[in-house]
Amino acid sequence: MTGKMMDQPLLISSLIDHAERWHGETEIVSMDTDGTTRVTNWAEVAKRSRRLASCLTSLGLPFEARCATLAWNNRRHLEIYFGVSGAGFVCHTLNPRLHPEQLVYIVKDAQDQVLFFDHTFLPLVAKLQGQLNSVQHFVLMGAYDKEAAAQIDGLKFYDNLLGQSKSDFEWPQLDERSPSSLCYTSGTTGHPKGTLYTHRSTVLHSLGGNQPDGLALSAKDTVLPVVPMFHVNAWGVPYIAASVGSKLVLPGPGLDGESLVRLIDEHHVTIALGVPTIWMNLLEALKTTGSKSKSLTRTVVGGSALPPSMIPTFRDNYGVELIHAWGMTEMSPLGTINQLLQKHQNLPKKEQEELRIGQGRPTFGVNLRIVDENGDVLPNDGHTWGDLQVKGLWVIDTYMGLEETALTQDGWFDTGDVATISSDGYLVIRDRSKDIIKSGGEWISTVELENIAIGHPSIANAAAIAAQHEKWGERPVLIAVKSSDVSESDLIAFYDGKVASWQVPDRVVFVDALPLGATGKVTKIQLREMFGGILEEKN
Ligand code: AMP
Repeated sequence: MTGKMMDQPLLISSLIDHAERWHGETEIVSMDTDGTTRVTNWAEVAKRSRRLASCLTSLGLPFEARCATLAWNNRRHLEIYFGVSGAGFVCHTLNPRLHPEQLVYIVKDAQDQVLFFDHTFLPLVAKLQGQLNSVQHFVLMGAYDKEAAAQIDGLKFYDNLLGQSKSDFEWPQLDERSPSSLCYTSGTTGHPKGTLYTHRSTVLHSLGGNQPDGLALSAKDTVLPVVPMFHVNAWGVPYIAASVGSKLVLPGPGLDGESLVRLIDEHHVTIALGVPTIWMNLLEALKTTGSKSKSLTRTVVGGSALPPSMIPTFRDNYGVELIHAWGMTEMSPLGTINQLLQKHQNLPKKEQEELRIGQGRPTFGVNLRIVDENGDVLPNDGHTWGDLQVKGLWVIDTYMGLEETALTQDGWFDTGDVATISSDGYLVIRDRSKDIIKSGGEWISTVELENIAIGHPSIANAAAIAAQHEKWGERPVLIAVKSSDVSESDLIAFYDGKVASWQVPDRVVFVDALPLGATGKVTKIQLREMFGGILEEKN
């Protein structure tokens, strides 16, 4: 049959091209590492990313060369996102909060050839340079700096490189299945592993994740990605913002509550995205500064479970809709997002709130199922728990450098989460399968125990862990941080009537702070090492 449609590859360069051509004057506000605020726009970001692409190409890097970043959310990092991938190289965001040994491991595993870094990380890079053997070009993300030049042999300066290169670079027509970017999993067990995204998966994630019941960013929005660009590409926000021409406010290193309140008010931010701890700090800062964050209409929260009280607090005190989302590095990261259906619109506030505490429904492009230990599919009835598996247009198949696929025999990816799915398709993450407490053959959700504890007025934060127990195998122990005085027995009594009596923690241990990993999540592995034996010691 004759007649056909155009066949254009799905490329990251097409996103920045669109932003340049149709949203060129839309501002990008950047908190630079030297403490200044720089206002640029999509046209300028596009021009400079082409200059970068031209410069990297003239360095003679091979196709698919990995170019790593150690950087905050700022305009140069944004240019690197587009310049590196657009030219056919792989943008590899490193998490600066990782232990230096882990960073060295990851750079070696990825065989990074270029390392771009913000001035903040100069001491770290200077210290590690001798161990980063694959890196041929160290690039400081700024102008020439004599002191820095003295610390790293052959150090290059981003602004100088761009100044010397051409802006008439034309994006190559790459294969859409070629790799574009790389993120490593947090590696709480074993070594971190690389998830290699493609141009195709990134563009599809940008389109599929941003539908009206998804992130729904638009050209009318001013977006504040608090989620770092080194954590799963800031949840894809830079790409999505380019595809719709949103204004961006890039917060740089200042992620404390007061800095965020200032940014929201000064730049009239309409939507912000980040992990729950960020919003806890923001709520505190809103109280102390007295700001009503008038421009903010919604925030997206994900990365770990949402403390239930946050939804009404944001809604009732600040008129902000809190949207809960779930995903993971291996999913680019968006899996589900919590929006109500038409039939829920007239439900009482309280019932709507209960629905919205969960992680929501899959967007187009992602499919979910829960299975039992034999891999048999379990019903979506809202109360049967199972291992959560996913399939989709932007889900991993094989980790970088490994031969064997990460998928089940029938092509699903096991997330390591334990969940329920309701008949309306609402996902509730009950736990990580390695964190869940197995007491006498029954499962206890650590998330549920933590949410109850956080609901106590004297508790600032809490983590529940499995402690070894002679009779029951494992029993729950709560590790809690107080905000005001409360006793162990009072906190245990607080569980009465909220969970079955056999689910109530056996002990509460008070600590000054919970240990956090590189992505801001509580490291339960460490807590289990510290307190996992506490019940045996007692016996
Ligand atoms: P990462 O790959 O570091 O982003 O971690 C992904 C994991 O974080 C998921 O498998 C979940 O266990 C957890 N996670 C992400 N978002 C949420 C959420 N909204 N609620 C509960 N857990 C979450």
